[in-house]
Amino acid sequence: MTGQSDDALFLDFDGTLVEIAPRPDQVRVAPELAPALERLRGRLGGALAVVTGRPVGVIDDFLAPARFDVAGLHGVELRIDGVQVGGRAEDHPELRARLPQLQALVADLDAVLIEDKGASVAVHWRLATPSDAERAEAAVRAVAADLAGDYRLQLGKAVGEIVPAAATKGHAIRALMQRPPYAGRRAVFLGDDRTDELAFEAVNQDGGLSIRVGPGETAAARRLADPEAVRGLLYAWAETGRFDPEALPRA
Ligand SMILES: [Mg+2]
Repeated sequence: MTGQSDDALFLDFDGTLVEIAPRPDQVRVAPELAPALERLRGRLGGALAVVTGRPVGVIDDFLAPARFDVAGLHGVELRIDGVQVGGRAEDHPELRARLPQLQALVADLDAVLIEDKGASVAVHWRLATPSDAERAEAAVRAVAADLAGDYRLQLGKAVGEIVPAAATKGHAIRALMQRPPYAGRRAVFLGDDRTDELAFEAVNQDGGLSIRVGPGETAAARRLADPEAVRGLLYAWAETGRFDPEALPRA
């Protein structure tokens, strides 16, 4: 079964389409990636979206001049068919009010970055010493605890992010699957991080196909080794129109 015309494809960005960089702004995007995604979107009747923790505008910059449907900030922002809903900083006064506290907690830590995304705030410690990384994680945990209820802490690879409690990638995929051109297709979701695991479970429950990128315990059904393997699969799918999940190793 190839499912070539019946799939809706949902793609995480960092660690899935592109290799993770030391700093989030240093990601390198293969020049053939966006054109291949556009071809593949054509084969899927338009049912292709990026599902990411990044803001929609950052994904646009990385994939320019192409424009894709994007669920950004773990689903806080959603842009479908060029129309964006949600994700405004001014909708999050409580989070905004806590930002100075978070900045003060990490101010003396080397190589710890705060990424203010408006409706969420991420603390990155990939380049920090182990002890500074520990303090950075403690700081973001403390501020997230103060905001508990309306916000939750989402831990990823050397990053802790305070996100609206209702925002998850699983919700974002389900929201997209309600609408054309996604509705009625099989959801296929590729992700690499623990933030993607709940979305794998949601996709599995809904009869879709989940694919984990890289090593680690996972709820996903299938696995690909790394972003290079992901790009190889997507380029071939775009070229031939054929995708055979049975050919992928079980996760
Ligand atoms: Mg990722």
